[in-house]
Amino acid sequence: MCGSDLRELACEIMRCERCRLSQTRRNAVPGEGPADASIMMIGEAPGAAEDLAGRPFVGRAGAILNRALGLAGLNRGEIFITNIVKCRPPGNRQPSGEEIRACMPYLRKQIEIIGPSAVCLLGNVPAKAVLGMQGVTSLRGRIFDDLYLITFHPAAVLRNKDRMELFVSDLAKLREMLSVDHLPRDVKRNA
Ligand code: SF4
Repeated sequence: MCGSDLRELACEIMRCERCRLSQTRRNAVPGEGPADASIMMIGEAPGAAEDLAGRPFVGRAGAILNRALGLAGLNRGEIFITNIVKCRPPGNRQPSGEEIRACMPYLRKQIEIIGPSAVCLLGNVPAKAVLGMQGVTSLRGRIFDDLYLITFHPAAVLRNKDRMELFVSDLAKLREMLSVDHLPRDVKRNA
């Protein structure tokens, strides 16, 4: 099962005991999607359904995400989806700073291996962990460093369905980010 760089990393994550979340998880959730995905999506942490399945965004928030992706003209199967922390925080609390710091090297390595052209940060926790930014309501729909797009977490859309339209329009920007050109990032930066 372990073989490619991404799979080796997933195997390492599944065995990981770097933080206390390893003591309460059922399954670590490394993430899923093609190793050469042009788009990555990063959520906060696995929930109960994800912990059980060992897969990201399979619960109710996942259903909203799938629907929004379809409305935005995106195919989930072509996207690599993961979270800031790979194990479920008990009671679905937010991951602590210590847990995030322990887990971030895995995400950095995933980004390095995949080399996406667009990275969608779903909510405040990934926006803060990756970009050091907070305030998803004002940051959503904005692109940073020519690579990162911030939008709502699907769970926030689940709590307030009025956000669905904005969520879909944000996700549609990922397609625009890819269509800027299909060249590698270093070429795109110099364009
Ligand atoms: S959350 Fe991350 S650092 Fe903590 S045990 Fe799971 S994989 Fe390891």
